[in-house]
Amino acid sequence: MTDLSKANDTDTIKPDIALAERLFTEFYTRTSDVRGVTRISYGLGENIAHSIIRREAEALGLAIKSDPACNQYITLPGQSDGPEIVIGSHLDSVPMGGNFDGAAGVLMGLSIISGFVSSRRLPILPITLMVIRAEESAWFAASYIGSRASFGQLSAQELETVIRAGDGEKLGDAIQAAGGCISEIAKGYSHWSPGDIALFLEPHIEQGPILAQKNIPLGIVTDIRGSLRFRQAICRGTYAHSGATPRETRRDAALAVCKLVVEIDQLWRQFEARGKDLTVTVGEIATDPNEASFSKVAGSVRFSLDIRSNSRAILKAFAVDLQVLTRAIEKDENVIFDLGPRTSTKSAKMHSSIVSRLDQAATEIKVPILKMPCGAGHDAATFANLGVPTGMIFLRNENGSHNPDEYMSLSDFSDGAKLLMRFCLQPPDIAK
Ligand SMILES: [Zn+2]
Repeated sequence: MTDLSKANDTDTIKPDIALAERLFTEFYTRTSDVRGVTRISYGLGENIAHSIIRREAEALGLAIKSDPACNQYITLPGQSDGPEIVIGSHLDSVPMGGNFDGAAGVLMGLSIISGFVSSRRLPILPITLMVIRAEESAWFAASYIGSRASFGQLSAQELETVIRAGDGEKLGDAIQAAGGCISEIAKGYSHWSPGDIALFLEPHIEQGPILAQKNIPLGIVTDIRGSLRFRQAICRGTYAHSGATPRETRRDAALAVCKLVVEIDQLWRQFEARGKDLTVTVGEIATDPNEASFSKVAGSVRFSLDIRSNSRAILKAFAVDLQVLTRAIEKDENVIFDLGPRTSTKSAKMHSSIVSRLDQAATEIKVPILKMPCGAGHDAATFANLGVPTGMIFLRNENGSHNPDEYMSLSDFSDGAKLLMRFCLQPPDIAK
């Protein structure tokens, strides 16, 4: 690499959009499903996507490392050896999901690095692209598996007890099969510590409709909502004959769960009216297909609850009110609610210096942005909650995410990459 004096020449170092376009196509072709793409965490699709990135990084002549949880790290040296800028995202998808959720962040990072390599110049700080494993909790009921593992925070117990939806594979076995080393993970091996990282940036498509509705190409995230989840809640009543059982003696689990759903919506509205940030979703409701029948009162109904907020206090308050609601319905309908195991993620604030530098850089490149909260969980939360200065760039997405119709334009991707390049050329000076 030569001509370091001009390393900040923002007009001549450009992200490699053609590389990203080519790899979006290859990702789609090689991991497509009946509809959309399926890249199972530690499964075939995710492994293919990781191998594609490794191949491209090798072609660029870059150093690649991997850790025992199969995260990959592609590093471009900087003018100093100091703490590095880490750009990270994931490559797994939900079943029959879209091609951009996760992959857009990885390919944006790679397009920046490729831009530096072809300019033969070094950035001020080293830049590492972290290709993160297993972010989509549709597969394993645990959050941020790859990013937590990079800090030695994936527990031995999780390796043994968390199983994959669909095939029931244990998390530890799946990691091992993908080429990882679970004995190292169980010992708490960490790839790095928060102090090694100057800042972490995760570019990602927006997963809601706000940027598209406002016709703004890019978002700068201010905070990430945390969650409280009950994935395996159950309401137990008694199966009974539909024609012979009077209303007052019924223990109808279907009715009780329906009442709960309506009451939860009322409660959410009350929180909203008080200006509290909250979303509540009952995404799954099912009677037991082996036992339920149209001519029987439902004796058992399974359901899920996903509650999110930018404040832990609000999540706690909602959980308390939820308990009051379930007790009241249990009494009225003579049923029993068992919400089952609860999982949670913490909310996370994005670093103010990163938010303001991204804002300024967007003005410099004349691209409109919106500052906004993020409703979905992301690996960025792992970094932010460990004290790493963290930021996120959102890309406008026309049709929501976690579905095959998810859509991102290459022109918006290119604007996002220009913003990220500008940021990497002149990162904020963050005093820790
Ligand atoms: Zn994602």
